[in-house]
Amino acid sequence: MWQDMNKPKMAAEKSASRVLMLLSQLERLNEEPKVSDNDAIRQITGKILHLIQTQEKTRKEVGSKSSGGMEIILSSLENTQDLQTTLNILAILNELLTVGGGRRTGVFVSKGGTAILLQLLVSSSKDPPANEELMLHIHSLLVKVGPKDRKFGVKARLNGALNVTLNLVKHNLQNYKLLLPCLQVLRVYSSNLVNAVSLGKSGALEIMFEIIGPFSKKSTTLPKVALDTLASLLKSGMNARRAVDRGYLPTLLAIYHDWHRNDTRHRHVVIRKSILGCIKNLTNIKLGRKAFIDANGMRILYNTSTECLPVRTLDPLVNTSSLIMRKCFPKNRLPLPTIKSVFHHPLQHIPAGGPVAQLYNQPPGVDDVVDESDENEATEVDTENDTEYDEDETGHKSQNDDIETDINKLRPIQMGTRPFDELRAYEYFCREFSENFEDDDFESPRSVIPPSSVNSERHRPIIIPTTPSPLGPQNRRPLREDLLTPKSNESPLELDSISISKRPEGTSDPDLVSSLGRLALDAGVNGGSADGSQDEGGEQSVLEVPDTAALLPLHDPDLYLEIVKSTCSVPAYTEVAYPDYFGHVALHLREPILERVYGVQRTKIFQDIERLIHPSDILDKVVYDLDNQSCPVIDNGESLKFNSKFESGNLRKAIQVRKFEYDLILNSDINSNHYHQWFYFEVGNMRPGVRYRFNIINCEKSNSQFNYGMQVLMYSVQDAINGSPHWVRTGSDICYYKNNFSRSSIAAGGQKGKSYFTLTFTVTFQHKDDVCYFAYHYPYTYSMLKMHLEKLSALRTAQIYYRQDDLCETLGGNSCPLLTITAMPGSSSNDHISQFRSRPVVFLSSRVHPGETNSSWVMKGTLEYLMSCSPQAQSLRESYVFKIIPMLNPDGVINGNHRCSLSGEDLNRQWQNPNAELHPTIYHAKSLLQYLRATGRTPLVFCDYHGHSRKKNVFMYGCSIKETVWQTNVNTSTSTCELHEDLGYRTLPKLLSQMAPAFSLSSCSFVVERSKEATARVVVWREIGVQRSYTMESTLCGCDQGKYKGLQIGTSELEEMGAQFCLALLRLRRFTSPLELHNHNSHLLDMENDLIDTRSIPNITSPTTYVLEEDEPAFLEEVDYSAESNDENDPDLEPELQDNHALPDPSSDSEFSRQDSLN
Ligand SMILES: [Zn+2]
Repeated sequence: MWQDMNKPKMAAEKSASRVLMLLSQLERLNEEPKVSDNDAIRQITGKILHLIQTQEKTRKEVGSKSSGGMEIILSSLENTQDLQTTLNILAILNELLTVGGGRRTGVFVSKGGTAILLQLLVSSSKDPPANEELMLHIHSLLVKVGPKDRKFGVKARLNGALNVTLNLVKHNLQNYKLLLPCLQVLRVYSSNLVNAVSLGKSGALEIMFEIIGPFSKKSTTLPKVALDTLASLLKSGMNARRAVDRGYLPTLLAIYHDWHRNDTRHRHVVIRKSILGCIKNLTNIKLGRKAFIDANGMRILYNTSTECLPVRTLDPLVNTSSLIMRKCFPKNRLPLPTIKSVFHHPLQHIPAGGPVAQLYNQPPGVDDVVDESDENEATEVDTENDTEYDEDETGHKSQNDDIETDINKLRPIQMGTRPFDELRAYEYFCREFSENFEDDDFESPRSVIPPSSVNSERHRPIIIPTTPSPLGPQNRRPLREDLLTPKSNESPLELDSISISKRPEGTSDPDLVSSLGRLALDAGVNGGSADGSQDEGGEQSVLEVPDTAALLPLHDPDLYLEIVKSTCSVPAYTEVAYPDYFGHVALHLREPILERVYGVQRTKIFQDIERLIHPSDILDKVVYDLDNQSCPVIDNGESLKFNSKFESGNLRKAIQVRKFEYDLILNSDINSNHYHQWFYFEVGNMRPGVRYRFNIINCEKSNSQFNYGMQVLMYSVQDAINGSPHWVRTGSDICYYKNNFSRSSIAAGGQKGKSYFTLTFTVTFQHKDDVCYFAYHYPYTYSMLKMHLEKLSALRTAQIYYRQDDLCETLGGNSCPLLTITAMPGSSSNDHISQFRSRPVVFLSSRVHPGETNSSWVMKGTLEYLMSCSPQAQSLRESYVFKIIPMLNPDGVINGNHRCSLSGEDLNRQWQNPNAELHPTIYHAKSLLQYLRATGRTPLVFCDYHGHSRKKNVFMYGCSIKETVWQTNVNTSTSTCELHEDLGYRTLPKLLSQMAPAFSLSSCSFVVERSKEATARVVVWREIGVQRSYTMESTLCGCDQGKYKGLQIGTSELEEMGAQFCLALLRLRRFTSPLELHNHNSHLLDMENDLIDTRSIPNITSPTTYVLEEDEPAFLEEVDYSAESNDENDPDLEPELQDNHALPDPSSDSEFSRQDSLN
């Protein structure tokens, strides 16, 4: 019994040792090769083969690294001249590598097996006809080995194996048994581009076309391998051209259509996908795209895709088809006479070499035409291989390049500081420090600005219809009769024709209100009840505008109109947008981040493709056009009416493409030809209950939060009048994708990103004849700021020191307000005055980028907090002197720019060397900071508020020399130890993360980037010496952490952020004191360090610690596009010159997933 149980085991051990014995015999024979040994070797290898075929244990023993079996076998293979021995050994290897997978193959490769096999292949083919069994064995092995050997392609080429295999394929087209492994090896060869070119020259393409045939149920393995080989071959531009010349594109389309038609049960989706893979690679070249269009490829792929759409498993086909169609969709220029901004602002002098000079020195006509030279083969790689996200990818690459590595550029500098005599003028903006505060200063609020340049008698109560009015009906103001609306709302207001307009210049009576015309918000002011309708009809006949003044303490429609009159815009706007006039009351409703609907992008793209396929369905009717004064033409009532001729508006053109679909084009920033992102426009004449699709077709960023749940903002005038004066997140089917419009590289300033992107959204209007406004984000105009400041100044109490100066005049003739806010000294006593004068300065600014309106809302929150009467606010005012420039770029804001000032430049790139004429606000802001430094009042904190279009939450960028050095090179850690750096820069963000729900510490970064060296944050840090110098970025979308997780951000959250910033400053105060700070005493800073846990700092490895761009980081958050991928990552098309041997495993799907391509 006992013996019986052990018998098999004994036998196994015995045989295992037998194989080792055989191996050692073989090894001896290898060492002293004699012809007479042939028989012995043949026998031994035969025995080993037998053992291996029957016992897994033997396979393990021979295949293991320690046994040395692989070396011995390979050595025999290399040495033997005997065919039977060779076949034995190849069979042994096939057994070994078939089971046991990658590890044994790895051993095989590492022992030089690939080269031995290839040499055997070549030498055996020297005397044809080659032994078929031998060839079969060799190729079966090569199929297994090739994908595991990174140098396989090169080795095969250098050994001259390519043509051997190719010839075998050529001569064995009917020999399925041999053909398949040879073809599989060919596929592996051709994944190397140099090989692909070589094989192409030897006729590989033609042979593949002999194997790929029309639909057949018989064998699909062979055509599949042939198609994959063909697809690899076609990655070479040279092969692709050859294939197009031979007319293979129409053939492939026909084959695809044939399979599509016959494969009704979708059993051969892989084959169909492979055919598309070939077409995809063919259309990488211009010639291929032309052939595709000529062969009616658009219609074929469109129709087949439409038929595939209902079957989810066919998505890969639809997606690849969509990718091909988009690629082949003819590139178009935007339908504009020029992409230069429609409005021009003449500059006093145009700096040579600046962007404006560049723009205006371009010969007319080249600025926007799609440059044909872009399409030539040499630059094709750039144009056609760039996909929606590759800008991000290249951004990723340059990310590390952008970190400042020059330690001298990270150290503080003194240069650039102007002589004090020049700075003395700025004493005017700091006169609080020299004031003596006479006793009567403490009795009444110091009058800063007369309460209003507005006649207060004009102020009229406005009544909200939804709430009972505390004022009598006698106070209600009627509308003109033709605008009256019955309560039932059966016949809604005709708001479409209303405009609030200023009187033309030179009119003697500039009374705005009387010229309100058809809005007639206040008909009673001049002529009393001129319409004779006052009270007539009671409730029913009164149009009541929302009492936003009651809900919005800083809002006053009359004051707004008054201020608008003195706001200078380049287009000389005479209209006012309703939302700015009525005001926006924050919606107290959760507005969740929109969940993306599956396939939305695909659907939209197919609708776009339909334009090409069914051109007769396209209306192409221009309904709004700033370039053409005679537009719009006669209205037939079938089109929406657009308008954006008001402050911050920037719609340039609207084209009705289908009955309920409009293409919209935004104006460029003034004196520039791009920067399209911000938008603000009005729509009227809508039909309720209809789904309207809007496409903004000249967006430029390669990605947008609109792909991640952000919605556009809409304001309905009807709703406002009915008591809901809100900007509301709205729109469905929102997505953002690359379209077929592009501009020339010259116009793009040599940039790579020449394609435009479409933001599309769909809206259903609720009311008939409403007037609705759409905006990128909650608008905040310059006039609104002025109104808010005027209202804020009225909040002064005897305790508050509030002063508003004009820092300078802008290029557009507007003033740039500078605020000074602090607490009045307790009295005029020396102690109080001395305490007052020792308060550290906090310097805040905002809205250097006009499109980042959220930064203004945060600033509004800060200002309101600073002017509030809470004890904490008073304590804060007693702690600091606030110097605030709430709008660094008034002209940009007024004129609807997204990024620039009237000089056509990004002002936040001018801080290093601002020009007094071209960048006055930056020049004077910097000078003021230099003055403060020169007088020993270097600010404790500097913070510039911004908005972020591609990240969620609110976060900060700061400056740390150590963290920058750590990021660039860990090896320099020894030298960084010598750097002394106070970690106080981390305190404020840390406090904010504890206090402000929208704030996310993990998104903060303290790395100094080269591309940011001219930004406010970096310059104020280096040149002014402000250690706590920040950019604070607020999301335009929403939050993915904290209390507001999953919600889009609204104005109340933004304002809250501004208030929390103040509270954090108050807490910061506890860690610092003016005396200590001035003396640089380290004691309290130690306390700060405790708070921020310095021990954790050197271990910062979080990827979010470093974020490339302050405004649009290359960091791309995860989004599931996999099903809609249209940017499969093709390697460069023309790398024939270089040996590209490190291609991915060709046995796997050659198309990477999006995530792979990004990481
Ligand atoms: Zn910004």
